[in-house]
Order: sequence, then C-alpha cells, then structure tokens
Amino acid sequence: MTFRRKLTQSISVFAISSTLALTACSTNPVSGKKDFSLISKDQEVQMGKQAHQDVLKKQRPYNNARLQSYVNSIGQQLASKSHRNNIGYTFTVLDDPSVNAFALPGGYVYVTTGLMAYLNSEGELAGVLGHEIGHVTARHGVQQASAGMATSVLVDLISKKAGGNSKTFNQLGSAILSGYGRKHELQADRLGAEYLAGVGYSPNNMIDVIGVLKAQEVYASRQQGRRGGSYHGVFSSHPSNDQRLQEVVGAAKSIKSAGTRPANRKAYLEQINGLTFKLSKNKTGRIVVGNVKTAGLTFDKLARKSVLNAQQLRLLNGRYPDGHLKRGELVKIVK
Ligand SMILES: [Zn+2]
Repeated sequence: MTFRRKLTQSISVFAISSTLALTACSTNPVSGKKDFSLISKDQEVQMGKQAHQDVLKKQRPYNNARLQSYVNSIGQQLASKSHRNNIGYTFTVLDDPSVNAFALPGGYVYVTTGLMAYLNSEGELAGVLGHEIGHVTARHGVQQASAGMATSVLVDLISKKAGGNSKTFNQLGSAILSGYGRKHELQADRLGAEYLAGVGYSPNNMIDVIGVLKAQEVYASRQQGRRGGSYHGVFSSHPSNDQRLQEVVGAAKSIKSAGTRPANRKAYLEQINGLTFKLSKNKTGRIVVGNVKTAGLTFDKLARKSVLNAQQLRLLNGRYPDGHLKRGELVKIVK
C-alpha cells in the first residue's frame, strides 16, 4: 500500500534523532498488550504532526469546506468509538485524481477526490475512514517504523560481523516488513468493521468498499499499459484472504448497534455532486448526479452524455462489469 512507502520516507528524519533505548515497549491500544515499539505516544503524535505538514506541502487539500466538514464529521464519529479516542484526529480530502486513502501515525487520515468519486454511499466512505483509523489505533505505522529501525540496526550489526554482505540482510528486512503489511491490512479491516458497527453502519460496508477497489484493479489490469490500483493491493495478490476477510468483518455483526443506520447512498451522492478532479493535464472532470427517469436508460445511452464510456460508468457506480440501471435510482456520470 502506498501509505507505507510515504510513511517510511517521512519517518527517516525522525529515526535519526530518536534514541533506541528510550522506549523499548509500549502498550498497544487495541490489544492492550505490550508491543515492541521504539516510539512513545508523544513521539508518535509529534511525528504525525510533522509528516502532516510534509503531506500538505506536496498535496493540496480539496478546496471545498462543505465536503471537508462532511468527511471530518463522519471520521470523528468513528474515531470516538475507536480504541484510541484520546488523541486528536484530522481528516483531509486531498485534491488528487488517484484512488487512494492513507493514514499517518498520530491520527492523520487522508482520502483522495479520486476515491471519493468512486464511492457510492456514506457507509462506504465510513468503511474507508474506519480502515485507516484502524491503522492508527493499532499503531501499525509506528510498529512498522520500529521494525524498520530495529531491522536496519540489526542489518548494520550483522553485516559488519559478516563482512559487509548487507544486500541479503536488507532483503530479509523488507521481507519482514511486507509480512507485517498483510497482517496489518486484515486487522485494519477488522477494526474498521468494528468502528462502522459502533456508530450504527453495517459492517458489510467494509466488504462493499473493498469490492469497489477490487473492481478498479480488475478493470485496470484489463486495460493494457494502465497502472493498477494500489489501495488494497494486498487482496488482489492474495485473493484467498477473502474468506478471512468475511470472518473478520462478520465478527462485528454481533455489536448491538450494527446496521441500525442506513448506508445513506442518496446523502453521499448529494455531497459529491459537483466534485471536480483532473482527468488529464488540461482537462477537469465533474461529477454530475442525476435521476434514472426512464426504464430504458442504459449505461451505453448514459455514456453519450459523459466523458466516460459505459464500462467506466459501471465502475463509477459500483456496477462493474455487467450491472444495469434501475428506474428511479440516482446515478453519477463525469462531465
Ligand atoms: Zn490499509
């Protein structure tokens, strides 16, 4: 996931200044157990704050206060039900056409306009935010950073002893890190589903949103020469994890408030009506939400009014690869 790459970049400055012996263990807010982490809570929050400034230097927040406040309000509700409601959370919609979401340690969560365009309900948005909050509450970022720091120290020591064959040891280091990745993604899905249920949404919204992202990957891989989606790459390379995904998400269904709140498709589509994003260097697209008034309206007919073709419109509306339109429902196109 792109999040990890960005995180390690922002951490490298921090890693140099921190003292390894300072905090060898700290309590994990999710498990309640001591885990191996070289970074204290205060250091983590400080690190997140700095990295947040770096993100904002590179990427522009989407210039729409109403949409920012909508996303923030859903994020704050989820965060208040999380294992870690004693830190402040900041939710930012980034003006970026790529389909992505990521989190930094200390409670900084980002979602791109590209991803916002593809989501079909408030429940799905909550699924994305809940998953990212899960990375923060389980301290995945700091665990990975700690592992990275520890590994590089280890690599340093061993390679000196072994006579400088550091390449093999570096490969070992990255193998450990990618192992953490798979485990952490599934845990973030489990936690996200719990937080969804905690505020009343159905945990199934988590499965729905992964479906949206999977469809993206399938579509991209069918388009030769196009870049594949990276948000949930973990599941595309390991589809056998799906059963485990059903299990971890299913566990949240026993939470009393689960499913008491609708996914709010209409409310979400009204919020993103008019959302703009770059289609290419000189071309800006705009989401337009409309009502399917006639029974005979098809994605092919709709494509005549849009810059997207019928398959891309299916993808945009969560109907890929062969879904149809229903009379009376809302549908989005890009103009
Ligand atoms: Zn993730």
